[in-house]
This record gives sequence, structure tokens and C-alpha cells, in this order.
Amino acid sequence: MCLPTQIETSGQISVLRLSNLSSLDHNSKISCTAENIVGEKESSLLLDILCTFSIALSYTFPGNPEPQLQWFLDDKAVTEGLFIMTMIHDITEREYHGCLQLDSPTHLNNGRYKLSAKNKFGSDEREVKAHFMRKPWDGEELNVVGFFRKSICFVMPQVYVVVGIAAVAFTGFLLMLVILKFGGNSKFGIKGKTPDLFLHWWFPSFGDGRLLKGTLLFLSVFPLLPVVQHIKRHNIVLKRELGEGAFGKVFLAECYNLSPDQEKILVAVKTLKEASENARKDFHREAELLTNLQHEHIVTFYGVCVESDPLIMVFEYMKHGDLNKFLRAHGPDAVLMSEGQTTRPVELTQSQMLHIAQQIASGMVYLASQHFVHRDLATRNCLVGENLLVKIGDFGMSRDVYSTDYYRVGGHTMLPIRWMPPESIMYRKFTTESDVWSLGVVLWEIFTYGKQPWYQLSNNEVIECITQGRVLQRPRTCPKEVYDLMLGCWQREPHMRLNIKEIHALLLNLAKASPVYLDILG
Ligand code: AMP
Repeated sequence: MCLPTQIETSGQISVLRLSNLSSLDHNSKISCTAENIVGEKESSLLLDILCTFSIALSYTFPGNPEPQLQWFLDDKAVTEGLFIMTMIHDITEREYHGCLQLDSPTHLNNGRYKLSAKNKFGSDEREVKAHFMRKPWDGEELNVVGFFRKSICFVMPQVYVVVGIAAVAFTGFLLMLVILKFGGNSKFGIKGKTPDLFLHWWFPSFGDGRLLKGTLLFLSVFPLLPVVQHIKRHNIVLKRELGEGAFGKVFLAECYNLSPDQEKILVAVKTLKEASENARKDFHREAELLTNLQHEHIVTFYGVCVESDPLIMVFEYMKHGDLNKFLRAHGPDAVLMSEGQTTRPVELTQSQMLHIAQQIASGMVYLASQHFVHRDLATRNCLVGENLLVKIGDFGMSRDVYSTDYYRVGGHTMLPIRWMPPESIMYRKFTTESDVWSLGVVLWEIFTYGKQPWYQLSNNEVIECITQGRVLQRPRTCPKEVYDLMLGCWQREPHMRLNIKEIHALLLNLAKASPVYLDILG
């Protein structure tokens, strides 16, 4: 799973703190393996995620021609706009699925919602009560942080109403589903049908007793659910293989109908080779996570294609591939590394290195602002596009190709120890400060044209070195200011390390002081 996690260790007790969990994580298995010289022991538990609920209002419509829909709140027509809108997310031959989506609703949005559907042969309507939030002056405040989006959903396949209430009392959760059936009153015209509505409220589960007051007093509070875009398979035309990561092969492809301005654009398509239940869960979680991460120095994620196997993720195509290969290809050993190429490519200049470093730091400032701990920042996980544009492009998926960069512990865990600070190696503690340490190592990689950190040492020697407090040496081409920055990232005490914003500001100033000449890429 790619969740922000933190491990806190005190004496023999370690606490794993998971954040940004969602109801999708319910029943996920968390395992902990401990090993010493006499053996290994594993213990696991299933996550019991208590969560709030959403409301769904559905209707059926066998009407023809397609009816006009209008929502009413307490009998007043709802004016749709940016914060309240009807969304249709699926249209099949005979049904429409959709919802009334409310962004950040307040107590002003509480009330009786009625959906009315009309065509020239008749009309029908159904309603549901929704209570999103207490009036602010009603006493107890809700301790809700962040941005919320709620929806009242509709589908149109049947002719009855289902009202469901899920509630949790003390120990877990209690799900109540009340089904009300409305008689189907379809009146068939000669040429068409009147619309019959199917209203359907559902509340998957919620875990806070506080939230249920009275019989139909609903509090629908759940964090913003990222809307992962679905891309049709026939819109993706594969062109050639780009590489292979832990999840599967990566292809260059053309994707049609993705951008309103262009008929087709080049994309990188990542396939999921293993379609086990867990791998699928990880895939969907990853897609949600990537949908939420949007920044000029984070690779753009366009969406998924899950119509059939293999599952696919679609990303922006970064012409020059991963940064580690790029650095090696533009360093003193480029001819040595290239297969068959005899002409020496242009070496990266110092200012270009600073330009690269500054962009990665900018992406990391953004990730830290999202409380996202990367845990695997390295040049192999960054991508290079045109005009030396660099983006953080991978969230821990390239472990196959660069397997020597990882150290296998226990069964499956692979750790990028050469990029890890002492507290991560010794206690598996990963934080924004441990990402800062890794950023220092990324700077070292950049200024050595992509050398492997501690390339002269074995994994066990690396662990020894880092935990004893040794740090990487200043690369030959590295200015003193930049090495001082690296040393600021490699302070043993996490709180003594430079702050990510400071690092970015320093790099930006250094990069500005030595302008980049971009003609290297031709
Ligand atoms: P990954 O699965 O992310 O480790 O990707 C494996 C390899 O595919 C990388 O080392 C890159 O060379 C290539 N690759 C991945 N994503 C992209 C992309 N968005 N654009 C271009 N090449 C990519």
C-alpha cells in the first residue's frame, strides 16, 4: 500500500501510524515481521476502519424519450453550479447512473431533496431527506478537518425505493437497511414511456455514534474521494515498450480523446502483471493517490483502464525516461554505458544539475505540504521530459529494474537502504525528515552523474556506515554550497535537518545564479 506511514519506536515497542486511511482500507491485512539471529516471527491484524457514510439517491427510468431532470431542495429548484451539480457517471443502453454531488456542503444544504423527471408522456418524482451538518450554533462542533465532497447518487434501472441507514454504536458498526418499495406507476404511451423514478438511499457504514441523532438525522462526512478517470481501452494504442517496473511493463502509447485540444497524445502506459486481489487493491489505491497528487513537478496521471486484464495506468509521457539513466547518459562514462553508441553526448553542466535538483525539491515541497511521505525518493524514480523538465514520477514501483538499489529484508520487503537515514534503517521510521535525507542523496546522485551511493560497499557495509554516522563524500563536480546543503540533509537528528522549503529556496537561488543552457537536449 502507498499510504503515508510512520513508525515510532520506544525501547522494544514500535508503533505503526497510518494516515489518510479510507473505507477502502477496511479489512486490509497489516503484517509485522520481526527477526533476529535466531529467527523470524510474523504477526498480523485486519484493519477495522470505522467510517462515516455517504448518501445515495437513485432512481430508475425506463422512459423514452430521455426525461428532463430537476432537483428541488425543500421544494425550491436547485440551481446547479460549481458546488452542487448533477453528475452522470455511467450510461448504458437502458440506464443512467449518476448523482447530485455537493462539494463542501454545510447546514444550508440540509433538507428534503426531491428529484423530478419529466418527458412529454408524463412525470415522476421521489425525495430523500439529507442532513449534512448541524447549524454551527447548535452546540457541539464537529471536529472535521479538510475538504469534503458528498453526493446524492442516482441510477435508473428499477421501480422502487430503498432507504438504508447504517450506524455504528459502541463496538463496531451497525448497518440498517430499510427498504421502501414504491409501486411502479409506469404509463406507457404509444411512442414512449413516462419516467419512473427509483430512489435509493444508502449509507455504507459509519463509525461515530456522535453522528447519529434522531431518526433521520444523517451526517454525511467523508474525505474528498478522488475521482479516478476511466479511459476506454480502444482509445489506447500501444507503440513500444519503455521499460519494466515491479508492477509490470511500461509502454509508450497513443491515447485518443484525452485532451480536448488534440485528437491523440503520447502517454506512458503502466500495466499490472499480477492481478491478485491484493495487487488490484494496491492498484486502485495507487490510482486514487495519484489522482490527488497534482503539481508541475509530479508526473501527470491521466487515469486508469480497467475494462479487462491487464489493468492499466496512464501517465504523461516523459521523453527522456528516468533521471538515473539520463544522468549516466550525460556523464563522463556515457560512452561506457551506451550500447553501440560511439559519439560522446554532451555532459551536463553544473547549472543544469542545479536546475534538475531545484525541480525535484519543488515536487518534494508539494508532497510534504500534502503530508505525503515518499519513502523512496531517488533519481530512478524521477522522470525527464523535454527542455530538462524533471518530475517525481514514481512512488515505489521500479524495484525490479534497479533491484541492486534495494536490500531485501524478511520475505518481501525491499528497502532502499542507500537512500535511507539511520532512523529509517534502524527503526523503519519514515517521515518528511527522512525524505529530506533521501533528497540529499538525490543531490549526490545528480552531481556524480548517476552513480550508486556507496557503490564501493556491500549492503551490510552500507548499513554499518550509515548507522555509525558516516556520510557520502563530496563529488568532484559539486560546489561547496551544494555539498553544505547535502550535509544539512544528512544531520543525524531528524529535527536538525534542513527543512524542505529551505532546501528548495537555496537550490532555486543557486540555479538562478547560474542560468541553464538547455540546448544540451537538442
Ligand atoms: P516504473 O515501473 O515506473 O519503474 O517504470 C519502468 C521504466 O519505464 C522507467 O525506468 C522509465 O524508463 C520508463 N517510464 C516509466 N514511466 C514513464 C513515463 N511516464 N514516461 C517515460 N518513460 C517512463
